[in-house]
Amino acid sequence: MIVSEYFGENVFNKSQMQARLPKEVYEEVIHVEKNGGSISAKSADIVAQAMMQWAIERGATHYTHWFLPLTGITAEKHDAFLTAPDAMGKTIMKLTEKQLIRGESDASSFPSGGLRATHYARGYTAWDMTSPAFVKEMSCGTILCIPTLFFSYHGEALDNKTPLLRSMEAISQQALRILRLFGDNESTKVTPSVGAEQEYFIVDREKYLKRRDLIYTGRTLFGAPAPKGQELEDQYFGVIRERVGEFMADLNTELWKMGITAVTQHNEVAPGQHELAPIYCTCNVAVDHNQLTMETMKRVAGKHGLVCLLHEKPFAGVNGSGKHNNWSISTDTGKNLLNPGETPNNNLQFLLVLSCIIKAVDRHADLLRTSSACAGNDQRLGADEAPPAIISIFLGNQLEDVVQQIVDNGTAADCLTDGQLDTGVSTLPVIKRDAADRNRTSPFAFTGNKFEFRMVGSSDCIANSNTVLNTIVAEAFCEAADALQKSDDVLKEAKKLIAENLRNHSRVIFNGNGYSDEWVQEAARRGLPNLPSMVASVPSLTTEKAVKLFEQFGVFTKAELESRSEILYETYAKVTCIEARTMLHMASKHYIPSVVRYSTRLADSVCKVRSACPSASFRVQETLLKKTCALLEKADDALQHLQECVEHSNALDGVQEMANYCHDVIAPAMRALREPIDSLELIVDKDIWPVPTYGDLMFEV
Ligand code: ADP
Ligand code: MG
Repeated sequence: MIVSEYFGENVFNKSQMQARLPKEVYEEVIHVEKNGGSISAKSADIVAQAMMQWAIERGATHYTHWFLPLTGITAEKHDAFLTAPDAMGKTIMKLTEKQLIRGESDASSFPSGGLRATHYARGYTAWDMTSPAFVKEMSCGTILCIPTLFFSYHGEALDNKTPLLRSMEAISQQALRILRLFGDNESTKVTPSVGAEQEYFIVDREKYLKRRDLIYTGRTLFGAPAPKGQELEDQYFGVIRERVGEFMADLNTELWKMGITAVTQHNEVAPGQHELAPIYCTCNVAVDHNQLTMETMKRVAGKHGLVCLLHEKPFAGVNGSGKHNNWSISTDTGKNLLNPGETPNNNLQFLLVLSCIIKAVDRHADLLRTSSACAGNDQRLGADEAPPAIISIFLGNQLEDVVQQIVDNGTAADCLTDGQLDTGVSTLPVIKRDAADRNRTSPFAFTGNKFEFRMVGSSDCIANSNTVLNTIVAEAFCEAADALQKSDDVLKEAKKLIAENLRNHSRVIFNGNGYSDEWVQEAARRGLPNLPSMVASVPSLTTEKAVKLFEQFGVFTKAELESRSEILYETYAKVTCIEARTMLHMASKHYIPSVVRYSTRLADSVCKVRSACPSASFRVQETLLKKTCALLEKADDALQHLQECVEHSNALDGVQEMANYCHDVIAPAMRALREPIDSLELIVDKDIWPVPTYGDLMFEV
């Protein structure tokens, strides 16, 4: 079957609704989806029936409220459509309006960061009509998934979706104010669009199962580099290996059925690393799609005897994985506010929008940084493959030139144009050159008609970054609209504002090499925040500035922000302790016993050679034995030390203290244990080494 025939067949999309719902109910649903509000109970009942009927035809037996709790992954609890049997023992399949709209669950086992004590366990899920329902085909059955929001008994958000939707409303309202002032009376809504490029690693499942670190933590906690890494640059865009290709083909089919527009697939830089990118869509749907993509990757990989690693840094020494969050804002009349046009210097509305974004990013760089903070990303940010933990903006030479002119003179008289490429090959068609080059090292790069936020970790939920982006830009739009509304001459005022925003905030613009040490120093000179770790970034969430911002636009209350910082600290501490305990387990159960066996074998050899032939040399065995025993001792000392640190951490009070201790004490103790074990890996006989090596994992799929 050709793709367009089955694309979206597992989605209860508009065409399904249109075909199955009475016209007035369909129109009510569309109205609410666009303008907010809720549909009547009667209509909801009709939708529920139609949705269930459709799902049953697709093989569904159960439904679930599908939501994004603060674990960063999705949650679902399946309920069959069945009703209690009647007197004759017959049952019918049913989904009521109430079941569709609201779910009530014991929420005390989800992270709440103190928002909800266990004795106030009630949590609610509520149908999110802005994201379409879908069915998921799983080994436990086909399940109708109803996207929902999740909040506490008092209405506080306990998920990643609620604040995102709030932020989308905020940016829409404020952007519309600007558009009206520029004479746009047609648009009624402005929506952020997002396309998330997803990086991942694929490894063989049998090898994976031999490594407790991969199983428990998603990354290797030990491992010497393989003789070959990524230095030949032969993996990026290289020919996709057969087994991985079969996985990709299967994955695409599954995603397409769920209406996810997976379009781009290629090998990434590190051996065993790949990328998938969809076509961008409305921000909240893109969030759902990215969660489903990650989940489907894992499931489909399993069917092929493979495992998909979504961790930000599964292997030391080669590139880690991130997620480029491409973001733009468009009107419901189809205009992208980030489209510079042919001559951006004359495009006043674009320049105002751009200057507001620059202001927002500079003012709230700390929040953007925090939005991409997770324990795994600490291993990646600032390594030579990922943006540093310093937020800066890359504009490209065309816009940078325009900005510079405005900073210097208040206006930009001209702008650099795209031009043609001279390839020196006369048979080639004329190739246009883009007005700006790319810069891979920038965390926040303008790429034509969108910004690309590249800090997000590969395993992370993209909702947080987009919530922050939408809200900080809403604030800058709001301030601009306030100023413009007060002025008699909107265009004159807009020019003044643009110059002011750019002059005050151009320090955040940086077109150079973001990976270099010089940039770290230069950024410090410019006064840009550098929050190198997750624990260092968490306090940004609850500063006076942050609370004011989020409360002003109704995105987070102070209590919600405090709960989120609590969860971040707690998660960081838990992740680090799990990693530390996994290392202790592997070192004491796998590595040390193997090394002891190896040293015994060497000692045996020394003794046996000496007695069999006293004149023969046993220098090699003896040298190896000495080296091995010295490293073994070092490993055991480090093991004891790490053990003590972990025990000490259990006695600490408060999540922030725990997290700081994990960062400052446990993480270095983990590195100290890894070092001698990795050295031993290079010495010990491969037959004895207890786990697959980097070479086995990255090159043998
Ligand atoms: P790359 O960075 O690999 O060159 P592309 O330019 O192909 O990436 O685009 C990457 C992602 O950006 C894709 O998911 C694409 O759909 C998305 N994208 C393209 N245009 C926009 C836009 N205007 N708004 C948001 N996302 C966009
Ligand atoms: Mg990209």
